[in-house]
Amino acid sequence: GKVLLTGGTGFIASHVLDCLLDNGFTVVVTARSKDKGQRIVEGVNPEVRDNVSFVIVGDIAQDGAFDSAVQSSPPFDYVVHTASPYQLHFDDPFRDCLDPAIKGTTGILASIKTFAPTVKRVVITSSSAAVLNVAPDHLPIYSETNWCNVTWAQATDPAHTYRASKKFAEKAAWDFITTEKPNFDLATINNTYTFGPLPRSLTSLDSLNTSNHRIRDMVLGRMKSGIAPTAPVFTFVDVRDVALAHVRALTVPEAGGNRFYMVGEFFSNAKIAEIIRKEFPELEDKFPPREEVRSDFPEDHWGFDSSKARRVLGVEYTSLEKSVRDTVESMLEREDLM
Ligand code: NDP
Repeated sequence: GKVLLTGGTGFIASHVLDCLLDNGFTVVVTARSKDKGQRIVEGVNPEVRDNVSFVIVGDIAQDGAFDSAVQSSPPFDYVVHTASPYQLHFDDPFRDCLDPAIKGTTGILASIKTFAPTVKRVVITSSSAAVLNVAPDHLPIYSETNWCNVTWAQATDPAHTYRASKKFAEKAAWDFITTEKPNFDLATINNTYTFGPLPRSLTSLDSLNTSNHRIRDMVLGRMKSGIAPTAPVFTFVDVRDVALAHVRALTVPEAGGNRFYMVGEFFSNAKIAEIIRKEFPELEDKFPPREEVRSDFPEDHWGFDSSKARRVLGVEYTSLEKSVRDTVESMLEREDLM
């Protein structure tokens, strides 16, 4: 099968790419520049490099941004859409977050419908942000049956812009399926905070994806004077599980029409620090004295049911220990970045 994968430079996309190639797919990635595209292709295993190429898609919020990218010869069977801003600070909520997220999503679906009739299924990287309510209005337990209660009126409040971008982008995608009745069906991966090994094409630790920042900061000794608070997110999932879920969601027939909420387990920054100190004694001097590190995991934390991805997609969840160990190892291997 042949797949168009958007946002190829991204952390999650880099693992989706590896997983697609491991599973024999041919992949075209989108990147914002030629440099970035070349770096992605050069980063993959040479044995399968012939199966990857890139196309440039600049501003995904523009009408028709994906019109030419979705056309390929031979034509695409599947699309995986991961490209979306994931930062916690934006200068302009529409330009920098809401428009690329929402118009990027409806735009690619419209381009596929018009120009890529062979596409059978689209998988979108949504988020747990589209599932979980805004604190303090939490449910006792969450699954993919839930939708975040953030309103459109709250979207320009910086505290809510990112979650609104994910919720309203995903909603727009499901609405597109209902109203436009395209040839393809849809599945979304609603992963929580995602840890895992760095993408090979990463050029600086500053451009590291947001969810790995706390592990980077510990490894660099930036929390030596005190471990930062964990809040607001205390659930994690490993990026390789998320990548496999995207790939399975393309091909497992019953996945169509479904959301998949993915959580591996709970974590806290204190727990991560403990794992790193145990696995990498050479990093001991990057941490504050042990007696100063206390878990801030809230006793009354809500629960999760992330079993559907296991049941329908056959994904097993990687432990926090393994995820943190492999993430730190991937950082230490990149001496050029440290
Ligand atoms: P990254 O920041 O590593 O990747 C984001 C990708 O989106 C990059 O390829 C980036 O391109 C691209 N992108 C961002 N903004 C734009 C834009 N305006 N126009 C074109 N491309 C853009 O983050 P992740 O890999 O973590 O995130 C990927 C997806 O996963 C996002 O949809 C995110 O919401 C979702 N997600 C992430 C979670 C996490 O914990 N990491 C959890 C749940 C969901 P460039 O490199 O050129 O900037």
